[in-house]
Amino acid sequence: MKIKVHPSLCDGHRECRRFAPDFLILDDDGHLELRLAEVPPELQHAVVLAAETCPTDAITVIHELDDRESEHDDVNQDDQTEPIREQPNQRESR
Ligand code: SF4
Repeated sequence: MKIKVHPSLCDGHRECRRFAPDFLILDDDGHLELRLAEVPPELQHAVVLAAETCPTDAITVIHELDDRESEHDDVNQDDQTEPIREQPNQRESR
């Protein structure tokens, strides 16, 4: 997972830093210094929360192609799943 920061949208609210202060480094004016960065796995949840909290949507979360492929595979598996049908005589046979 990566993040992209849009400098023109970052207003220096500093809300994002609460979630990952060692990764989301701000400059002296309170703006994010990052532009494009790979997010370490252990920080991904915190960084997603930071992106969701940013009042100006200045942080875009970019999921890797592998993640999307696995999500796509899950969707395909779901599509092939047979609907669960109740067996009317199943309880009676127990
Ligand atoms: S990215 Fe958003 S929350 Fe973080 S400093 Fe910029 S405007 Fe504020």
